Formats: sequence, structure tokens, C-alpha cells
Amino acid sequence: MDPIETLRAAVRDVPDFPSPGIVFKDITPLLGDGPIFRLAIDLLVADCAGKDIQKIAGIDARGFLFGAAVADRLGVGFVPVRKKGKLPWKTESLAYKLEYGEAGIEVHIDAFRPGERVALIDDLLATGGTAAAASKLIEKAGGEVVQAQFLIELGFLNGRSALGAVPVKPILVY
Ligand code: AMP
Repeated sequence: MDPIETLRAAVRDVPDFPSPGIVFKDITPLLGDGPIFRLAIDLLVADCAGKDIQKIAGIDARGFLFGAAVADRLGVGFVPVRKKGKLPWKTESLAYKLEYGEAGIEVHIDAFRPGERVALIDDLLATGGTAAAASKLIEKAGGEVVQAQFLIELGFLNGRSALGAVPVKPILVY
């Protein structure tokens, strides 16, 4: 099978989770299969080639799974962009709007060297609110966001428009 179709077949659609009308993209079948998980990481790593990526930032929580594996392959450091209140040291933080209410994310103030070239990674781009906030936060903390990478982009939500000039690199587009 074509690698992209192999990955697509390993993502399970769960209708009406966590709320009615949402089709949740469940990546646990993909994570649970060694060769398929490796294939996903191969493709994410390939998108980093030739860009002098110096650090990977992963978004809490599923972005950690992919981001840490990519960082290991590249031999660069990994920075967790965490939900508010989880990081123990001094943080930069940013509040952003959700469909209902507000959320906050944080990174440690010393997570990036000034101008360090960062690839941002998450499992899925939906409305783009989370990734756009993470990107702003990384810049606030001194990093330069070279690209935003996702296993899945829900193209019909046009989340990439929230990321402005940051190049968006999905593996699977729905
Ligand atoms: P957004 O800020 O709208 O782009 O939402 C992105 C975040 O929510 C990501 O961290 C995803 O893990 C999660 N998410 C949003 N929609 C879905 C979905 N349909 N299936 C799985 N995860 C989702």
C-alpha cells in the first residue's frame, strides 16, 4: 500500500467524541503499530531535511509523542509546550481563545537560545488556535518557528490561516 494510505488506514474515526458532531481522529492504532508509527516519524523527519532545525517543540500532549521521536532522530533537543500550571520553572505563557472559554499554554523561559530554529509539532491541526498560540509563545521565548508540522490537517477548518506566514506541513489531509 502507498505509505500515505497506510497511515490513513491506521487513523480511526470516532464519531461524537468528545462531544456530539465532532469526529475524533484517534491515532492510537497508528501509535500501536511499530512499522506504521516509524513510517509516520520517517515522513515528519523528511520534512525537516535541509532546514537547519535546531529544536523541536511539541504541543501537550499528543504532540509530545511525535515531537520527541523526531527530535531523537534529528539529534536535537525537545521542548514541551505545556498546558498552564504544569511546568515547574519560570515560564512564558499565553492565553488563547477556545470555541468556549479560554486556555493557557506555557514554555520555560530558558527553553530556546535566541534565534534558535524550531519546528513545532502536534498530532492534528483543527481550527489552528492551539498551534498559533504555541507558535507565538515560542517566538516570545526567543525561538524562530521555521515550520509547523502535523500528522493530520483537517483542511476544511482552514486552521493554517491562523498560523500566518509559518509554513504548515501536514502528512495526512482530510
Ligand atoms: P485546534 O486548536 O482547533 O487546532 O485544535 C487542535 C488540538 O485539539 C490538537 O492538539 C488536537 O490534538 C486536538 N483536536 C482538535 N480536533 C480534533 C479531532 N477532530 N480529533 C482529534 N484531536 C483533535
